[in-house]
Amino acid sequence: MERPETVSMLTTGLIRVIAPNPSPMTYWGTNSYILGTGAARVLIDPGPKDSQHQQAMLNALPHGTVISHILVTHAHKDHSGGAQDLAQATGAKVLAFGDARSGRSEVMTQLAATTQMGGGEGVDMTFEPDVLLKDGQQIETPAGPITALHTPGHMGNHLCFAWNNCLFSGDLIMGWSSSLISPPDGDAAAFRDSCHKLLMRPDTPLFAGHGAPVESGHARINALLVHRAKREQQILQALEYKSMDLKTLTKAVYGNLESFTLKAAARNTLAHLIDLKEQSKIEATPNLHESAVFSLAENKV
Ligand SMILES: [Zn+2]
Repeated sequence: MERPETVSMLTTGLIRVIAPNPSPMTYWGTNSYILGTGAARVLIDPGPKDSQHQQAMLNALPHGTVISHILVTHAHKDHSGGAQDLAQATGAKVLAFGDARSGRSEVMTQLAATTQMGGGEGVDMTFEPDVLLKDGQQIETPAGPITALHTPGHMGNHLCFAWNNCLFSGDLIMGWSSSLISPPDGDAAAFRDSCHKLLMRPDTPLFAGHGAPVESGHARINALLVHRAKREQQILQALEYKSMDLKTLTKAVYGNLESFTLKAAARNTLAHLIDLKEQSKIEATPNLHESAVFSLAENKV
């Protein structure tokens, strides 16, 4: 992975500032984007709470320009953590779908309330937007109109933002990796629906929350859908052989991984299992839980 310059001009009216938080989950760090060409600019994803990154964003503003809107794709600390400090420093309002628990599907709300699902990695429980955005809402900004698209899957409150001829895809669709889907925030069925929703829109380049721009959004979304369908098949095939707990199943599907990656893989596997259970293709004993034993549903054997 070659980390580009911290600040770069990607196209006319689009500046990317990379936060100093590289890791196996965040690639070269979180991308914060500054949009517009006028005296007031729009910022997408303030990134982690980090004074060095905040200064870098403010320094990246062309002389005499200010930030008028702070848009947040989702309430993970590496995207929303710096929102409050930046809002205070600039006077700009923070706009997002809702707090960390908003936008969850019914099944995930239920699972989160009744069972121990684990998960919650990096969730910013303190995140409180000033303005709540609805699916399909158009925001009039000095950088021009921006459309908010509710796109759960990676997280319930995830928004993508459509602007000019491009889409800011947050952590839902990225070029460098498939996204982590960790229940109860991550939801495999919602991920699929969000992908199809984006495929109904014109194909545009993507600017993701981590990593390089993606030239064709549709090609990348289709590749990710194929990848998920393949994983689902692998899980069903493994369970055809015998019933397994989450750890054994993850190893059977993903092979030998380092412990950190294995943990993330297990979260993705659990997301698939919940989805398959919802479709009545598998059973969980004694009930749907991260330490359950999973087997093919009777009618599948
Ligand atoms: Zn995230």
